[in-house]
Amino acid sequence: MRRLDLRKTQAARLNTIRDINRQIVLNYIREREPISRAEIARETDLQRSTISAIVEALTAEGLVEEVGEGESTGGRRPTLLRLRTKEAIAIGVAITPTCTTVATSDLAGRVVEQKQFLTDPDPDNTLAEVIGLVREFSVRNKGSIEAVGVSLPGLVDPSTGTAVYVPYFKWRDIPIAKTISTAFGLPVIIDNDANAVALAELWFGRPEVSDARDFILVLVGEGVGTGIIFDGQVYRGQHGAAGEFGHMVIGTQAPVPCSCGNRDCWEAFSSERAAQARYQKLSGDDHAALIDFRELVDRALGGEGNAIAALVETAHYLGIGISNLVVGFSPEAVVVGGEIARAWPLVEDALKETIEHSVRRGLPSATILPSTLGENPVLRGALSLVLAGKFAAAFAA
Ligand SMILES: [Zn+2]
Repeated sequence: MRRLDLRKTQAARLNTIRDINRQIVLNYIREREPISRAEIARETDLQRSTISAIVEALTAEGLVEEVGEGESTGGRRPTLLRLRTKEAIAIGVAITPTCTTVATSDLAGRVVEQKQFLTDPDPDNTLAEVIGLVREFSVRNKGSIEAVGVSLPGLVDPSTGTAVYVPYFKWRDIPIAKTISTAFGLPVIIDNDANAVALAELWFGRPEVSDARDFILVLVGEGVGTGIIFDGQVYRGQHGAAGEFGHMVIGTQAPVPCSCGNRDCWEAFSSERAAQARYQKLSGDDHAALIDFRELVDRALGGEGNAIAALVETAHYLGIGISNLVVGFSPEAVVVGGEIARAWPLVEDALKETIEHSVRRGLPSATILPSTLGENPVLRGALSLVLAGKFAAAFAA
């Protein structure tokens, strides 16, 4: 789903003029709401009459609504427009190795309602629970839900809606989209979790990220995943398998095995599991293994030395991998998502140190930023699979 560059609108010459203009107006409203027709006219080269016709169509489609009047600049007070947020239109299903979250959101991506359960390693059981919650939410929203977005921690083929391989549970060739859509008749869009979060950053992230044409999202969780945004869209490579950098070799004898079984992968050095293992070793306490990563971050933020050391060492290895990506891709920005983003003040220096080393050697550099998608970036990603389709420029067939 290509995000239209509002600064370079002539680039979208594959579309019909009407479609392009519609996307420009819709995205101005999305990014600058509340905004008047006159302001859109001032910032674009579109005629007032064209804008009025498009706004009328967007209102009829239920995408845009009027919200009172703005300041007058002389004449009549202008009517302000914003995205319509009266009802939930999307369901997001974020399947992670530990838990699965199912939630509804409005057009602007705000979560309306959510429920969570522990992911069952048996895909039939997990899908049965997902279908139960999707049914519950659809019934409650009486037909306003337009589609379901599903994110998975593994290799996914979005074109067939199949989970090709999910290493944590050894799921192979599970027809996720078909199973859910057969139960409801709703369209189902699925993707890898890091790609989905990258899409969420592109559409709902901070301006330094969403305005960047090329950036890399590094998702740190039980594993490490990357989503590459190239020229305003997710770069997939052949067969959609691009971005499996979690398995690039960055050393030997990592603290934990990678989800693929090896001990030399980036993920084995830089995942939440790696940080937990370091903490346990530093504490010399078997019970330390029992704390989850969220608790580890809390302890570090509370000033506990071993917790800080475990996070800083993990950030050092995360930085090595990021440095390799920056040298290879030269993106404008690298965004780090996951619970570790909460510990940013503690890990920022360690993360940036290897990048700065690259700069001293005259190699490409990039801004490294924590994700601003909030507590559950993977859920925001799953919802974005549906929402981005509403805002993205439709390609001419
Ligand atoms: Zn691996």
